[in-house]
Amino acid sequence: DTHKETLGFQAEVKQLLDLMIHSLYSNKEIFLRELISNASDAIDRLRFDALSNSALYEHDSNFKIRVTYDKDARTITVSDNGIGMTREDVIQHLGTIAKSGTREFFQSLTGDQQKDANIIGQFGVGFYSSFVVADKVTVLTRRAGAAVEEGVQWESNGQGEYTLETIEKEGRGTDVILHLREDEDEFLSGYQLRTIVRKYSDHIMLPIEMKVEAEDKDEYEVVNSASALWTRSKSEITEEEYNEFYKHVAHDFNTPLAYVHSRMEGVQEYTILLYVPGQAPFDLFSREYHHGVKLYVRRVFIMDDAEKLMPRYLRFIRGVIDSNDLPLNVSRELLQQNKMIDAIRSNSVKKVLGLFSDIANNDKEKYATFWREFGRVLKEGLLEDFANRETLGKLLRFSTTASSGETQDVSLEEYVGRMKEGQDKIYYIVADSHAAANDSPLLEIFKKKGLEVLLLSDPVDHIAIPELREFQGTQLQSVSKGEVDLSKFEDEQEKEEQQKSADEAKDLLDRLKVVLGDKVKDVRTTTRLISSPACLVVDEYGLDPSLKRLLQSAGQ
Ligand code: ADP
Ligand code: MG
Repeated sequence: DTHKETLGFQAEVKQLLDLMIHSLYSNKEIFLRELISNASDAIDRLRFDALSNSALYEHDSNFKIRVTYDKDARTITVSDNGIGMTREDVIQHLGTIAKSGTREFFQSLTGDQQKDANIIGQFGVGFYSSFVVADKVTVLTRRAGAAVEEGVQWESNGQGEYTLETIEKEGRGTDVILHLREDEDEFLSGYQLRTIVRKYSDHIMLPIEMKVEAEDKDEYEVVNSASALWTRSKSEITEEEYNEFYKHVAHDFNTPLAYVHSRMEGVQEYTILLYVPGQAPFDLFSREYHHGVKLYVRRVFIMDDAEKLMPRYLRFIRGVIDSNDLPLNVSRELLQQNKMIDAIRSNSVKKVLGLFSDIANNDKEKYATFWREFGRVLKEGLLEDFANRETLGKLLRFSTTASSGETQDVSLEEYVGRMKEGQDKIYYIVADSHAAANDSPLLEIFKKKGLEVLLLSDPVDHIAIPELREFQGTQLQSVSKGEVDLSKFEDEQEKEEQQKSADEAKDLLDRLKVVLGDKVKDVRTTTRLISSPACLVVDEYGLDPSLKRLLQSAGQ
């Protein structure tokens, strides 16, 4: 009984397939990178599971990936002896999109092919990219530890349905067989396939084997360099190799913005290779967003999504940390309270922040991109990472009353450097939009006196910026809170005039207080306004009005 059944793809898979076939057309060869990447992940998983269950090895711990082709059958096969899949796994992984962020992904599609191609890249093209070159794909797989009779065959032409069948499969792991489309014969060449493997998958740490190109030989040779990229010295690694490795670990189609590669020696030895993506993923602010740093112990993959390795505000960082000292059987639970991990994390965070600083100091244009993509997340660090607040403060960029537009490009160092004689505070205003901040009547007096004010309007600003409190000894002061004393910027005549008008207004104030009653705490004259007749402020310890609205809308 082969238990054959035909199942339909989840609607989104169909949509994804259509998009992919169009957007990848000019870059079809990456199907091979994706399949090899999956094979490598599958072997990593097996290796990790086998640490606690050696039966999974099934007497075969000679891990490898094989790429073969058959000119007559017009097929290309990628095989691995990794973890394999059960029938349920197959349904879940090759029939649906089970990824986090799927909803956000489909919401962010625009219908513009160019833009969508980019978004698909970030989402990860993965297994389904097979259909860019194949009109039929067959997957033979058996889960490690399952009986030989419990193999599964999955087959589809990518048109909306797939079939499942139970088969016998001797070796554990997975074979993906691509039946090439009519005009894709160029891939049926040992030379061509070797070139693609070396181009995209050289950094894969497992041997990728291909048959020796000789009529009568049945021998395989390793075609990649099969060493962990991060263990090599920087000078031996090309930009291209760094980029390809990024695409593999980050499941990103695009090139990274920057990376830091460093071997840490001392109490502990470990290597970090961490990347800043070229753009913010579309689901960066979604609740189930996954962290992206992989933990290895002595080149053995332990786990990804290890939240313990990077704080939340650096959740966009991708890459690997490889420890020489952690025990191989380190578990998720152990990770939670491991002192060594804490030390690795805090040093890695320093390195990453150091990378940001380097970019800020040496490449303004790149930093502008970085800030545009990740500035909002980085500001969360002010709330989370007290130890690095000083460094974070230097990394912040703002739009100010001295800027021409909304672009956030003024640093606090710049601001402080051009403060007016006698100014001892960094002034800021928080509002719901840049326009609302810039047009606030509260700024009239500051503009008149030529005092620069930071214009804040990102949602996170409401809570993050007040947390900063001071920058290198200069306090931050919200212009909408309490008394703003600008008297030192006034001359005698102005002071006299103010006193006079305050005296004149006394009767009016008394009447307003009576009329407004409980609705206000106090009514007073102000020197803040130039042309507006009145404004509302909160006292020193009150909530900013826009923060109040934010909290109300969040149901607080
Ligand atoms: P991703 O690799 O980003 O998860 P893919 O579309 O490439 O997305 O793969 C989808 C899922 O299918 C994988 O997460 C994995 O669970 C499963 N899968 C794909 N190829 C293999 C394989 N060779 N061995 C085991 N599982 C696989
Ligand atoms: Mg994949």
